[in-house]
Amino acid sequence: MTADHSTEAYKAYFLGPKAENETWVRSEFQSILEHWFQWRKDLFPTDVPVSEKAERRTPAYLEARERIIAGLEDLTDLLDGEVPKFTPRYIGHMVSELTLPALMGHFAMILHNPNNTSRDSSKIGSRIEVEVIAMLAEMLGFDPERATGHITGGGTVANFEAVWRARFRQDHWLSLLLYLAEERGVTLDLFAGAHMGWKRFAELLDAHDVVLDDLRGYSGVATNPYAFGERMTQAFGQPYRGPVMLVPENKHFSWTKATNIFGYGEDAFWPVPLDALGKMDVAALEALIDRAHKEARPISMVVSVAGTTETGEIDPVDQVQGILNGANRRHGWDIWHHVDAAYGGFLCSLLRGKPSTVLSVSNSAALSAIGEAHSVTIDPHKLGYVPYSCGAIITRDEQAYAVSSFKAPYLERQLEVPDKWSTTLEGSRSAAGAAATWLTGKTMGFDTSGLGGVIAETILACRAFRKRIVAELPFVRPLSPSETNILCYSLAEEGMSLKAANAATEAVFDRFVACADFSVSKTTLSGKAHSKVIERHVKTFGGKMDDDRLVLIRCVFMNPFWREEAVADRLTTDIIAHLKDWFHPARAA
Ligand SMILES: *Cc1c(COP(=O)(O)O)cnc(C)c1O
Repeated sequence: MTADHSTEAYKAYFLGPKAENETWVRSEFQSILEHWFQWRKDLFPTDVPVSEKAERRTPAYLEARERIIAGLEDLTDLLDGEVPKFTPRYIGHMVSELTLPALMGHFAMILHNPNNTSRDSSKIGSRIEVEVIAMLAEMLGFDPERATGHITGGGTVANFEAVWRARFRQDHWLSLLLYLAEERGVTLDLFAGAHMGWKRFAELLDAHDVVLDDLRGYSGVATNPYAFGERMTQAFGQPYRGPVMLVPENKHFSWTKATNIFGYGEDAFWPVPLDALGKMDVAALEALIDRAHKEARPISMVVSVAGTTETGEIDPVDQVQGILNGANRRHGWDIWHHVDAAYGGFLCSLLRGKPSTVLSVSNSAALSAIGEAHSVTIDPHKLGYVPYSCGAIITRDEQAYAVSSFKAPYLERQLEVPDKWSTTLEGSRSAAGAAATWLTGKTMGFDTSGLGGVIAETILACRAFRKRIVAELPFVRPLSPSETNILCYSLAEEGMSLKAANAATEAVFDRFVACADFSVSKTTLSGKAHSKVIERHVKTFGGKMDDDRLVLIRCVFMNPFWREEAVADRLTTDIIAHLKDWFHPARAA
């Protein structure tokens, strides 16, 4: 079933800022409840009810019921004060109005409360999860027959899942290197061996008549990591310093957490510098790979980001993959590539179906290359318009998905797919996110006629907004490029110093917070990491570089209703009036 996006179909996907779809949505939520009641009534028809009418009239019962009703009233009263994220006035963070299929899928599933950690308690929930992972994998450009993965509590956990798997894989290869050196007197090249690939691993086991279980005592993960380091130092005649992770400077905070949690130490974190557009500098990546080679530091993974949290930029994933493919061709190095597409993953829906011209050629190329990576993080609870908490880790095949047990994934294809609990960092996992994403995919579809069309319109709305405020307010300085639906800008008069511009921008942001007409967010780019970006930006207003940070107002145009001309026109006019009113360069300076 494909929806027609060209007309007003999108208005059926969302409740509407004035609950315009109230009538039929109420009846659908009611039918979910009716179905739930009926399920209970029909199953086990010989079972007797636990209460009779008379018992539901006792004072204790009535009192309890009153408490629940009053308590719920208190809760709903409280919720009146919650941040209203459904309205187009909310352009703060990566969240907005949710889709109706997502809400309905989520709601229908929580009433049955499956735990996807095990099929014992989740028959349908786990099936839906397998299906939705295949749908996401296909959208991302993987072979859905081979790709696998699972739903996580979010992008942070999904990133950890990738780190865990990359470490598992490399640990096998390092164990074999140590085993051969200690037991057989065969010293292979450490760096090449650390990226040998499963094929070479199997050949070496075969050639030296080693079985996998022999390696357990040589694993840095299965034994003592400090002793492992000493033994590697001994075996290879140079100090062993452990693996590194090459992650661009535009990274999300979850990557710093990962080096911490996995015990790599922050020294293992090798930041890849950014270019003046805030994207990973691929020449710098190549230089870091060379350095790791020279220093014999195994590369646990290379990360690229599709849709940065701060500004929505997309790293040249295709060029990163090209560099890794080249290293593989020339040297046989198999280096793990993870794409953190927590935000931008759903932009791939713009590549499916009727072609969309909204994305730039370079971004289309970057997004098209995701399917070549080993693993990807994608957050349905961001651009999937699905309720929290719902992220996903997807790997290109079972081999990349393998983790935790010492068994190597190439050895035997397990006939029976095991329960998920042994291969997920999280234990108990709700099936609600899987159902919400599944129903979104089944009804709207992850292509330009459905979700992709909605996202495309948000990008266009962001551009239109940018064009108008820049035309009407010369002191608005948009950060370039803004290629997706996130717009960051600072406020500065021509020739203003960066320090003064930062103060003025901060002051205006504070007014936004105090006034509550709109929700925007603020981001600060700072340090050496963003120096090129900051310099480029300050040049646009001929400013003086007297600060090492750049304060930006950040607007995420996820809300679907910005595509309505009347909505956009009215809100843009209001924001322009506020900015005019609040921008006081003199006071700031
Ligand atoms: C949001 C985000 C994350 C973290 O995801 P959570 O769902 O908040 O845990 C990781 N990476 C990027 C690029 C993100 O935008």
